[in-house]
Amino acid sequence: MSHEIKKENRVIYLDNAATTRMSDVVKQAMEPYMDENFGNASTMYGYGEEAREALTRVRGVIADTLDAKPSEIYFTSCGSESDNWAVKSIAGALKKKGSHIITSRIEHHAILNSCEYLERLGYEVTYLDVDEYGMVPPEAVMRAVRPDTTLITIMFANNEVGTIEPIMQIGKIAREKQVLFHTDAVQAYAQLPISVRSYPVDALSASAHKFHGPKGVGFLYVREGVQIPSFIHGGGQESGKRAGTENVAGIVGMGKAAELAFSGMRRRVRKETMLRNYLIEKIMHEIPDVRLNGHRSRRLPGNVNVSFKGLDGASLLILLDEDGICASGGSACNTGEERISYVIEALGVPEAYAPGTVRLTLCGDTTRAEVDAAVESLKRNVKRLRE
Ligand SMILES: *Cc1c(COP(=O)(O)O)cnc(C)c1O
Repeated sequence: MSHEIKKENRVIYLDNAATTRMSDVVKQAMEPYMDENFGNASTMYGYGEEAREALTRVRGVIADTLDAKPSEIYFTSCGSESDNWAVKSIAGALKKKGSHIITSRIEHHAILNSCEYLERLGYEVTYLDVDEYGMVPPEAVMRAVRPDTTLITIMFANNEVGTIEPIMQIGKIAREKQVLFHTDAVQAYAQLPISVRSYPVDALSASAHKFHGPKGVGFLYVREGVQIPSFIHGGGQESGKRAGTENVAGIVGMGKAAELAFSGMRRRVRKETMLRNYLIEKIMHEIPDVRLNGHRSRRLPGNVNVSFKGLDGASLLILLDEDGICASGGSACNTGEERISYVIEALGVPEAYAPGTVRLTLCGDTTRAEVDAAVESLKRNVKRLRE
C-alpha cells in the first residue's frame, strides 16, 4: 500500500481528459453500496430500499446540476453508451420523417462510429468541417439542414483541443428548423455551467470518470417530451428505457463526484484556468517553434494542446513518461492507430507541426510545481529530439 502511494506521488498526472483520479470521498460514499446495501433496487422487499432511495437521490442531484427534472435523467454505463443511445435511437425513431444526420469531423469516436454504423444502414450523415480553432460554424449547420434532417449532434467541447463549441447558436438553429439536437458534453459537464433551461439541447451525454467519479457509469439527459426508444431491452429499469440491474455503487459515486465538482466549481475553474494559461505561456516562451492548437479563450479550463515543429509526438510522450509525466497525443481512444489525430488534421495544423502534437490536461488538484516540472521536461526532451 505504501509502495503504491509512493509510486503515485512520483507521477505527474496531466491526462485528465482521458480519465481522472477518483477522490476518497467518492470511494467512501460508494462503499456501503458494495457491502451492507447490496440489495437490488428493483426488489419489493425492504432490503432494496436503500438502493432505491440512492438512485432517486442521485437522479435529483444530477438533474439539479443541469436545471433539469429528475425524470429527464437516465443512468448509463458510460459516455460512449450515452452517445450511442442518443444517436442511434433518435435517428431510428425518426426514420419515417427522414434519415439525414448532421455532426462534425471532430466528434469523439463514440459519435463518429455510431454515425458510420447508421450510414451502413442507409442513413446519410453530413460531417461538418471546423475552422482553424476547431469551432463548428453555426452558419455551416444552418446550411446543412435539409427537410429530411432528424438529428444534429455536436459536442459541447472537444476532448483533444479543448475548444468550446457554439452550442447556444447551434441549438437555436436546431429549434428553428425543428430538428432534435444532441450534445456530447462528456468533457464540458462539471467544467462549464450548463443549464438546459437556457441551452436549447434535447439530449446530452456525460460520464462520471471524467469528473473524478468511478469508471463505468454515466448518464443521458433527454428533454421531457422528446421520444427516445429504449436502447437496452429487458426489465423496467430507467423508466423501461434502459434495462439492466443498476450499477448502484457507481451511480452513488457519480452523484457524490457531481456534488463535489459543482460545489466549488467557480473557484476551481478559475484556478485551473490560471494554471493552464501559465502553462501555455511558459511553453510558448521557453520552447521555440511551437504552436497552440484550439481556441485561445473558448477553451476547456484544463486543456493544453501544442504542436512542436519537426518532431514525433509519440517519441516525446515516451521521454515525458520516463520523467514520470503522463500526457497524451490526443484522444486516449485512438492511441497507436494513426500518427496524426483526425482532430489535428481537421484543424489544418501545418504538416511540419502536426506529428509533434501533445495534449496536457490539468485538474483542480494540479499544482504549479507539477506544471513547472512538466515544462522543464518538455524543454529538455524537445531539444533532445530535435538534435
Ligand atoms: C471520454 C469521452 C467519451 C467516452 O466516455 P466513456 O465514459 O469513456 O465511454 C465520449 N465523448 C467525449 C468527448 C469524451 O471525452
